[in-house]
Amino acid sequence: MTAIAIDATNHERLDHLGRQVLAGGRIDREDAMFLFHLEASADIHDLLSWANRIREQFKGNKIHLCSIINAKAGSCSENCSFCAQSSFHQTGSPKYGFVDPEPVLEAAAEANQNNVTAVGLVAAWKGLNEGPMLDEVCDRIRELKASGKTRPDASLGIIKSQKVADRLKEAGLECYGHNLESSRRFFPQHCTTHTYEDRVETIGYLKQAGVKICSGGIIGMGETREDRCDLAFSLREIGANVVPVNILNPIPGTPFENVPRLPVLEILKTIACFRFILPRQEIMIAGGRTVNLRDAQSMVFMAGASALMVGNYLTTLNQPVEKDLQMLKDLGLDPCWDRHDFSDQEEPASGDACCEDDLVIAK
Ligand code: SF4
Repeated sequence: MTAIAIDATNHERLDHLGRQVLAGGRIDREDAMFLFHLEASADIHDLLSWANRIREQFKGNKIHLCSIINAKAGSCSENCSFCAQSSFHQTGSPKYGFVDPEPVLEAAAEANQNNVTAVGLVAAWKGLNEGPMLDEVCDRIRELKASGKTRPDASLGIIKSQKVADRLKEAGLECYGHNLESSRRFFPQHCTTHTYEDRVETIGYLKQAGVKICSGGIIGMGETREDRCDLAFSLREIGANVVPVNILNPIPGTPFENVPRLPVLEILKTIACFRFILPRQEIMIAGGRTVNLRDAQSMVFMAGASALMVGNYLTTLNQPVEKDLQMLKDLGLDPCWDRHDFSDQEEPASGDACCEDDLVIAK
């Protein structure tokens, strides 16, 4: 990427697409690929400023904070190439069985104190079936809900039956985390023990049960810009409510330990492209934020992010939550986001259609 003057043709097309999204329209894949292929830093900053306007229009200054607790760590039967918890890789990552009630309630209290909207129980296993483990998981969700301190979320892998999804919903689950991870095309490059279709099917059961969907992916695994673009469109298609963007933090001992890091501007550009494609969703910057973005972390909001994963990740450290809260305060952003109904994501009935005449934003 080179620092050259803003390209007038690119500026004009960006201006058109930005106004189209602000007016409630959608961009198509060809337009999205134009955004993903912007190269010059001046053009990328132009893109970021539009993404920021789109975030402000649909999200105001509200920032949705989430945290996770590793509810069952390590020894996972799956072979995801980016993951420290896979039994296929030697990473020295901790291993323990399903979590007791106390650490979950402590995490809820801490989250509440820090204005964090949700705590997600995350388990390192292939998935969840009917049986004693489902009973135990439902107990933890019920306890989390009863604490009244946080939204009870979970990420429990692949689900193969509607009954399991319904049980989770009955226990009080509000949002289920299940990333598509990458494009359908790239998926077999990082996992062969389950399929992209398994993931889409799981999301279908959860949606049918009335649970909100948190689904995104990981960038920087060696995928192309086309793969990132297709991921964003797939997330639009499945109706994800929260879209976590993780940036690969290559873990020693995993097959991806030597994958080169994405440049910071490429990361920010990707977030901005996601905001154009998913204007009303929560776009959450999750794993790999601190190590990949360093001093540019606060730029994620300018790039259109409206949510942050705070506290430590599953196997790696994040910056202290106090530092994140200070960053939001310094930027005039509000983490006290307690509307859990996702109603700001509803599109007007005519949301698909938008023509030049409908545009209300002055040039
Ligand atoms: S990403 Fe999830 S399913 Fe894949 S190896 Fe890690 S814990 Fe297992």
